[in-house]
Amino acid sequence: MNASQLFETVASLPLQVLIVVIAVVLLSRFVDQAASSCRLWTIGFLSILGLIAVGFMFPHLRLIQNGGGLSESAARTLFVAQVWFVKIMAVVWIIGFSGVLLRRLGRMIVLSQFFSQRCRVMTDEEISTLPLGDQDALPEGLRLLVSFDAHGPFCWQLQRPTIVLPSCLLREDEDEDVLRHVLLHELEHLRTNHPLQHFLQGACNALLWFHPAIWWAARNAELTREFHCDEVAANAGNTIASYLKTLAKIAEQNRAAPTCTLAFGRRKSAIIRRTEHLVSRIESKGDQRSSRDQRRTSLAIGCLFLLVLVVSQLWLPVNVLASSRTRVSPWPNWTAEILHDFGVSVRDYERFDARHDLNVLASDDED
Ligand SMILES: [Zn+2]
Repeated sequence: MNASQLFETVASLPLQVLIVVIAVVLLSRFVDQAASSCRLWTIGFLSILGLIAVGFMFPHLRLIQNGGGLSESAARTLFVAQVWFVKIMAVVWIIGFSGVLLRRLGRMIVLSQFFSQRCRVMTDEEISTLPLGDQDALPEGLRLLVSFDAHGPFCWQLQRPTIVLPSCLLREDEDEDVLRHVLLHELEHLRTNHPLQHFLQGACNALLWFHPAIWWAARNAELTREFHCDEVAANAGNTIASYLKTLAKIAEQNRAAPTCTLAFGRRKSAIIRRTEHLVSRIESKGDQRSSRDQRRTSLAIGCLFLLVLVVSQLWLPVNVLASSRTRVSPWPNWTAEILHDFGVSVRDYERFDARHDLNVLASDDED
């Protein structure tokens, strides 16, 4: 990829990502149930990772041609500016990306130390007394830990699904409903693969650490996951009102759970939003939501796929080397070289454009 192609990619990808995130937020409002919104967020994060991969590996249509009104000297100046911009951006991005990875690695080390030093494995006797019914199946390989520290309950999964409960929740004088709600909530996180969605969200966040739309998406997705598990736990428990008591109790004693986990209640502001969401569920309980939601979910997922397809071809006309003789960009060199090795010949150069001849400069830059 020459500097202009890279500049075109780094200018267009954030716009594509912003449109996908806005679309998921709007479509989440269109579907009724939090489970459907969760599915939309998973597709959204996968789409964002897909857009990044496609942007760097495949050619794209140039739906908007650049004006071509630039003189050769202006085009040269712009090209040189793009080369510098790309070099500076590359350094800044690598610093930010490394920072995110290092921070995450640090958190993983702290978490594994927390598991080994501040937690104990729950005994079979304790597990048999947990207030769960026969229908509340535990996932295979589930590790239930009791923590000696005071913090909110949380779950986590890398190799094995893990639920960590603070020891205060297991006291005999503790309300059994609270423990049941917490367990149902955490089990639902694991059952619906929320750790995987959390991982995809983390991958998007690491690659696009500078993008406010990704921070916004992460906050929305986190809240949606909590909405869904609250709904399931509240419906399986006694009443929504008793679940609201559990939320209030956790908010009261809430101390931060380790980061990079799915915590029951990390922020009080989020607990207030979750309470409001559950109250709205009580108000709309009489509606015939289920079949309508299924239709809306299918429609929303279809719209999202279509939008991602269109957005993948939305590229800003900022490549000064873009030839006016074709509406398809050249293949990036790395994928073109792989295809050449397999005997497939693809165009990895700009067609000659009589307006200016900057390709010499571009090849100099690539060397
Ligand atoms: Zn949760």
